[in-house]
Amino acid sequence: MAGYDLNEGYFIKKQLTEDDFWSGFSSMFSNKAVHDTSYKFGFFKSILDSLYNTDDNLILTFDQLFYKFTEIYWNLVLKYNLRQKAKTKNDRETALERILKDALEKEEIIRDVSFEVLSDEVKLRICHKVKMKCKENVVGALFRDSGDVLYSFSKKAEYIQLNPIAYAFMTKHKKILEKMNYFEWAKFLEKVNEDMVIRNLLNNLDTITLRNDLSYYRKILFDEFEERKCFYCGKELKEGKIHVDHFIPWSFIKDDNIWNLVLACPECNLKKSDKLTPDNYVENLIIRNEQLQEEIQAPLRGFASYKKQKLRYIYYWAKCNGYDEIWIP
Ligand SMILES: [Zn+2]
Repeated sequence: MAGYDLNEGYFIKKQLTEDDFWSGFSSMFSNKAVHDTSYKFGFFKSILDSLYNTDDNLILTFDQLFYKFTEIYWNLVLKYNLRQKAKTKNDRETALERILKDALEKEEIIRDVSFEVLSDEVKLRICHKVKMKCKENVVGALFRDSGDVLYSFSKKAEYIQLNPIAYAFMTKHKKILEKMNYFEWAKFLEKVNEDMVIRNLLNNLDTITLRNDLSYYRKILFDEFEERKCFYCGKELKEGKIHVDHFIPWSFIKDDNIWNLVLACPECNLKKSDKLTPDNYVENLIIRNEQLQEEIQAPLRGFASYKKQKLRYIYYWAKCNGYDEIWIP
């Protein structure tokens, strides 16, 4: 049965070597596999971006995944105007493109608004529509393309469960897999958008979900938690000169979970940039997070899947993925 027709699937339980995974991923990305739309790339990116938000059983819900997925396509379709399917005679758009464009009209949103500034209710409404439509084909299709080894899934229960061996492989090689995915995705987009000049597409793909506005987190950390010193140098922070820094670089983690966000002075933030700090800062952040969880009673985004041991692992995985330049504050 074709992957997109499956209602559920179970990953094959067998010992797989790294070589098995590399060849599996290459054929998954290769042009030999037919790509009608770009959705498999988008769904794979959603999984990679959610690797650190799984629960203890490596489960990711469709709500989690299609939130990421919607955010990615919101920007690609509405901001960058990139067609996600080859032009056909009747020039029909994909269902996803129609959902997003309808949402603009129904919710009376200005076209250039980025996804991050929509209200939570509007976001959830749009994500729900995208999920209901896109879960039909893409989850099973990627499952089959990977040779049934990446995850188990159920359309009815709306989750995927990552194969632990695949999970270990993906965390170890996250950066390279991301690049392979971008590369093939960009090739696809260039092909179906041939009438457009596509500048820096690879860069755009890497930053389409980058949030510029972290003021929400600044407010929680500075006003509510009263973290009023630079996390790195300890200097008192002055109103108007407070930066929110991704402790594990955003370019690796691709998410704004508050357990990874610290306040920093502009100098430290600039110097640290995309680098890691020595590992004693990991321990400092673990202590900070314990205090944060105790003091702030409101639900904090991302803490549900947070574990201090996980933070240590992510720091280690970032090192494995080429983040080997250490900045000493
Ligand atoms: Zn500082």
